[in-house]
Amino acid sequence: LRKLVVVTGASSGLGRECARSLVNSGKYFVIMAVRDVDKGKAVAKKFNFPENSYTVMKLELASLQSVRDFVANLKAFKSARPLTHLVCNAAVYLPKDPKPSWSDDGYEMSMAVNHLGHFLLVNLLLDDMKKAKGARCVIVGSITGNTNTVGGGLVYPKADLGKLKGMESGGKQPIAMMDGKNYDGAKAYKDSKVMNMMTVSELHRRYHKSTGITFSSMYPGCIAETQLFREKRQWFRKIFPLFMKYVTGGYVGEQEAGERLAQVVDDPICSKSGVYWSWNGGAQTVGRYDASGKPKGAGGSGGEIFENQQSDAVQDRDMAMRMFDLSFDLAGIS
Ligand code: NDP
Repeated sequence: LRKLVVVTGASSGLGRECARSLVNSGKYFVIMAVRDVDKGKAVAKKFNFPENSYTVMKLELASLQSVRDFVANLKAFKSARPLTHLVCNAAVYLPKDPKPSWSDDGYEMSMAVNHLGHFLLVNLLLDDMKKAKGARCVIVGSITGNTNTVGGGLVYPKADLGKLKGMESGGKQPIAMMDGKNYDGAKAYKDSKVMNMMTVSELHRRYHKSTGITFSSMYPGCIAETQLFREKRQWFRKIFPLFMKYVTGGYVGEQEAGERLAQVVDDPICSKSGVYWSWNGGAQTVGRYDASGKPKGAGGSGGEIFENQQSDAVQDRDMAMRMFDLSFDLAGIS
């Protein structure tokens, strides 16, 4: 029997390629959790996913009710079979928006989609997943949420949750930023990715022993061509992949990135909980690609997977605990 895996945002970029890799492995039945069901179906068709290897289900992360509806539909669909794997991948990045946009529940959009919707989803599925043997929950992190790296620490604005004043005040419209300061779309994304990574650490500390579930985050490398950068200008979208390839060496193609995410789902090495996985040959390495853009070296693709260090911000236990507890309130979990 195939293992059951939910992948959020499986209709594009990293999520799509991860779903493809898991389907192709023949070991997984992939539940594509997407905001646009027709788009999800078109992806499955385009890549010839076999009928018995996937289904597409509606999940709008900008609505806490939609998350609850998704979980109810999922439970009905799979009946008593526990979910073995959950991949929280979907995200929005809104660096150009001068004003915040709001989720159905009145939260700033990147915080709502990237963090809060996933926070609720994970919490609603824990009881079910703990029944499965070898269950894993992966939340995609980012270097931009990691303040001890060039991408995360030196490129402004920095992720900074401050004293969580915005969250403490309920985090709802007109409060856009979790530190309570003025709206900054690029920072809101980075803050949400730090929250993703803190969530994984806190899930591990609170629930790994009692549930047996493996909790991981990962940084796939810079997938400079995905739709994540849709708000950036055309020139940026042309130059950015080249810059990442030849200057920083942090570039990774969509398919390879998807395989990395699938590795965290499937590889026995990744059964260790509480780890932030990365690949060397990633952001810090120079010259992995030749002039035609082909990866250099034997086998071509991919660095070695390793356990990366979390930034000080992510390692701040008091902050993570507080953020986690406040997220319960904001997500309406009693
Ligand atoms: P994409 O924009 O290609 O994919 C994002 C996915 O999220 C899409 O499938 C999108 O749906 C979905 N999504 C967006 N909003 C919602 C919503 N409200 N409800 C449900 N689903 C939603 O970006 P990437 O593939 O690049 O990003 C995937 C992950 O990788 C993110 O977590 C991102 O932070 C992370 N990441 C990306 C990096 C990069 O360089 N690209 C680097 C580091 C991390 P739809 O298909 O309908 O648009």
